[in-house]
Amino acid sequence: MQQLVLATGNSGKLAEMQVLLSPLGFEVLPQSELGVDDIDEPGPGFIENALIKARHASRVTGLPAIADDSGLVVPALAGAPGVYSARYAGKDANAANNNLKLLTDMAGLKGADRKAYFICQAVAVVSADDPLPLLALGRWHGTILESPRGVEGFGYDPLFTPGTEGCSAAELPAAVKNKLSHRGLAMQQLIEQIRTFW
Ligand code: IMP
Repeated sequence: MQQLVLATGNSGKLAEMQVLLSPLGFEVLPQSELGVDDIDEPGPGFIENALIKARHASRVTGLPAIADDSGLVVPALAGAPGVYSARYAGKDANAANNNLKLLTDMAGLKGADRKAYFICQAVAVVSADDPLPLLALGRWHGTILESPRGVEGFGYDPLFTPGTEGCSAAELPAAVKNKLSHRGLAMQQLIEQIRTFW
């Protein structure tokens, strides 16, 4: 079976991506199992960061790599936390710190000002110097709740409610989140491209 490396050290993402990529029929190996360390993400945008992660994992392992750079965008906060979603409350922040900062920054915002969306920019490279990476973008629109709900998922899931479901992303079964989410949409597109072009 053909192998590929999944370029993320985030356990929440890893769990989702391993399920989402299973239809591809590749052996999907987490970078941590192959001795790949996390790399800095200095890019101004999701696309640069996703490419940096995928090329790094491919360079270290010699395998094709898939990475995603993702985050939450709140237009009323001028796009924050955006590419800084993982470290919104500081360099070593965890999900609880980040969620608290988000609630604090959004205190007083009501109605349409609480709209937000998740972005997932996914990238696949056949090699570290692949001149033609495959790209896929997924978006998931919703609203930021005034207090956290639910224990599933990871990151900002307890504060994010997708308009259609009436509960937070952390109250959705994993299979439902995977159908609706930014990451689910991006992985579906990436799989189609990999089947077509690799
Ligand atoms: P990255 O590892 O730099 O791509 O950071 C992604 C960050 O965005 C995560 O650490 C979370 O804070 C947030 N994020 C991305 N996708 C999700 C999701 O599906 N649910 C909740 N938070 C997410």
